[in-house]
Amino acid sequence: MLNGKNAVVTGGTRGIGAEICKRLAEKGVNIAFLYSGREDLASAQEETLGALGVKAKGYKCNVASFDEVKTTVKEITKEFGKIQILVNNAGITRDNLLMFMKEKDFDDVIDINLKGAYNTIKHLYPVFVKQRYGKIINISSVTGLMGNEGQVNYAASKAGLIGLTKSVARELASLGVCCNAVAPGFIDTEMTKDLGENNPMIDKIPMKRLGTAEEISKLVLFLASEDSDYITGEVIRIDGGLAM
Ligand code: NAP
Repeated sequence: MLNGKNAVVTGGTRGIGAEICKRLAEKGVNIAFLYSGREDLASAQEETLGALGVKAKGYKCNVASFDEVKTTVKEITKEFGKIQILVNNAGITRDNLLMFMKEKDFDDVIDINLKGAYNTIKHLYPVFVKQRYGKIINISSVTGLMGNEGQVNYAASKAGLIGLTKSVARELASLGVCCNAVAPGFIDTEMTKDLGENNPMIDKIPMKRLGTAEEISKLVLFLASEDSDYITGEVIRIDGGLAM
């Protein structure tokens, strides 16, 4: 039963994260979501989720900052009490071919996409362990499995997230905590809007279309629910067949 549980979702204002928040809220899960900048989107999301009858609060917090995440997690646990679900969804791209990729673009992507997940898990795992229950879901990418031209930084962060997922799963399995990763292919969000309508990647996708944030949210819902209680350390592709 998800009703009455509490979730922390990073990057909950837009795209996949916004949809994950909605999907969980529809099942009665209270939501604390993190975002980095867009206050307007955060207030709109609080309203949308609140209208679904759950408690919902946005926290401005850069997931790349160990200290900011520590403070935010304290605020969240004070406000919400127990936390049963953590979705590490916040992520960025700073694409360029290796020869043009600046050091800062490499570091920023690793800091947000990979260290961000370390930060939230590091500060929340004592809560999970005390409860002897937790569902951690990390949003990786097929790029972390396949690599991609122009995405050395992003691919490294998403592959790193898979190693982190499996290690956390091994460390916490006997303590009642599941940790899994979702590896989406190309999903129709702001992140992929630059690829354009005639996205050449579509030809490479066996299903010949982009995925939707809604489709990702359904998989996350499954991993957050008791239906997946015997699944941990898994990486589930959701990519229309792209990386098979
Ligand atoms: P998006 O539309 O660009 O949204 C990114 C979200 O992350 C926003 O809510 C943003 O908040 C938040 N965020 C960014 N930097 C942050 C930071 N430093 N601290 C806290 N929050 C931060 O992205 P998306 O397409 O929904 O992607 C969501 C996740 O799925 C990412 O991890 C991405 O790598 C992964 N993914 C996406 C695709 C795809 O095709 N779209 C494919 C595979 C994997 P603000 O609005 O406040 O900036």
